[in-house]
Amino acid sequence: MGKVKVLAEDLVSLISAGEVIENPSSIVKELIENSLDAGADMIDIAINEGGIRTIIISDNGSGILRDDCPICLQRHSTSKISTKQDIDEIATYGFRGEALASIASVADVRIITQTEEEETGSLIIARYGETPDVTETSRPQGTTIEVTDLFKNIPARRKHLSNARVESQRIQEVVMKQAAILPEIGFRLQRDGNTLIDCPPNQGASDRIASLWGIDIAKSLVIVDHSSRKIKVTGFVATPPVSRGNRSREYFSILKRPISDERLSRAVESAYSTTLMKGQYPICALDISMELSKVDVNVHPTKREVRILDIDNVSDVVKEAVQKAFGKSDDVLETVTLQSSLDVNIEPASVESIAELSHTRSPQPHEDQMGVAPLVEQTLLEPSAEGSEEGSEVDFLGGVFKILGQMHNLYILLESEEGLLIVDQHAAHERVLYEQLRTEVNQDRVAVQELLQPFILSLSPKDAEQIVELAGTLESIGFTITSFGGNEVSISTLPEILGRTASENELLTLVDRILDLGSKEAANTFMDNLVKVTACHSAVRAGQSLNTDEIRDIIVELSTTKSKFNCCHGRPSMIRIRKEDIDRSVGRMGPDAISRYKSRHGLK
Ligand code: ADP
Ligand code: MG
Repeated sequence: MGKVKVLAEDLVSLISAGEVIENPSSIVKELIENSLDAGADMIDIAINEGGIRTIIISDNGSGILRDDCPICLQRHSTSKISTKQDIDEIATYGFRGEALASIASVADVRIITQTEEEETGSLIIARYGETPDVTETSRPQGTTIEVTDLFKNIPARRKHLSNARVESQRIQEVVMKQAAILPEIGFRLQRDGNTLIDCPPNQGASDRIASLWGIDIAKSLVIVDHSSRKIKVTGFVATPPVSRGNRSREYFSILKRPISDERLSRAVESAYSTTLMKGQYPICALDISMELSKVDVNVHPTKREVRILDIDNVSDVVKEAVQKAFGKSDDVLETVTLQSSLDVNIEPASVESIAELSHTRSPQPHEDQMGVAPLVEQTLLEPSAEGSEEGSEVDFLGGVFKILGQMHNLYILLESEEGLLIVDQHAAHERVLYEQLRTEVNQDRVAVQELLQPFILSLSPKDAEQIVELAGTLESIGFTITSFGGNEVSISTLPEILGRTASENELLTLVDRILDLGSKEAANTFMDNLVKVTACHSAVRAGQSLNTDEIRDIIVELSTTKSKFNCCHGRPSMIRIRKEDIDRSVGRMGPDAISRYKSRHGLK
């Protein structure tokens, strides 16, 4: 006898449920979509124990007709499609007829529903493994679905759920993403009796975002509205410096279906180009609308993945849309790198190579007086404060360097006999502060700055809760963070190094980066990373202009660090260009070349 057999129906539905129902948040997502498909404009969600114990979703949609009640829990039962052609033109969120059946096969489900056409409503009780029981009841028009004891019959799956806090945060993200896209629909989310999200129907887009993300972000929003190549991008982006320390506030949707796609993130990030520093990410909520036939929502059972058939085009239009919102044109300057135009040998500096660069200066013939243009145009450089030779010199690496100035407010330029040393001002200062704070933490003597006026940050409810949970750890590096009620937290002390520069925006970004660490780092590396991000946020910025004294301070402090050649994230903090490489690149071959030049120009 053969070994292959067709699985029993209940086993099949259990297996397929696994594809749709991963955790409580996937149930919430499916049920919200059903409510939206039913035309609801108010969706009320209440969860207990992260949704593992109960999820209750009520809507004011069409309700379910009596005759449909026994069927709607069966697999492949749907009111949304009936022919093959319908699938290609699908405009509803659901159509597979799988969600309710899947949920009912992994949890107990109770549905109370009332339509406009029928006088009495229905109560459906579905217990795992039993035929659903339908009786009469009544309620205002709409549907309430209660899901209890998820995976109670499948301990192996239940074991894989996260704790209630994490599961409820996932649910919050699902509701926030949906609510951000649909300001006309009201959403409420309660967790164990506490209201986390409360957005009335018919809000304007920026009021909606203010309800979800806090007023500070809402104030910085710029409207995006751009169409090209039959693709329309609408929504908004926050103007820098308002930004986050991770991608958690980059919201994208296609035809009002939330999606995440790294290529779209990169498109938006590239539109911001250099206005955000490394480690900062845009805040945006953008909806892309395009012909339905160019989108395949059918790729993934949970519809988490929507395949865009022409993603390159779409990414380009998204980038244009964001640039247009900022009033920028697309004629990005071709930046020619020094490397390619001069073929100069540029290398990250190492201990030995730097030593060569640091010989004390000896008097040099001023070759540029002979009419040869200097390599680095002086106009690029900040004039040194004192103007005197002595004032612009700094001891570094056992030698003396002349401070030439700053380039593009990014790099410090130092000259020695051997050539040019280019120091990344942010990386260098970050290294200084990292080592300083690390030592303070190790010796338990972090210098703390009390704020006269605490910063009050308004965060998402989830972020507020998480950062308060980390308060104990954060205190040991100088932050005093307490809950200020609702979504707000108060920060009353800061590590002193940060106190010099902190602003509300800065702190918001820092909080994001800390939360990002908190979720993925083991406790022992958490502290080190905390010190790194704090140093990063306290350091002088790329883009900040520095005078000669400030440059000297950074270089002098840098000279005392243990690992001066790298920033604390491992990037090189300086590079050198040898004079002989520059000479070779411009064809200056030494004394012979000089005398040839002189005789050609009749110079003595
Ligand atoms: P699908 O959404 O793919 O059609 P579901 O299993 O999610 O499949 O739902 C099955 C059917 O139950 C839907 O087609 C719809 O007719 C009905 N239904 C489910 N939820 C609701 C609701 N909240 N309001 C009205 N009808 C609903
Ligand atoms: Mg559905």
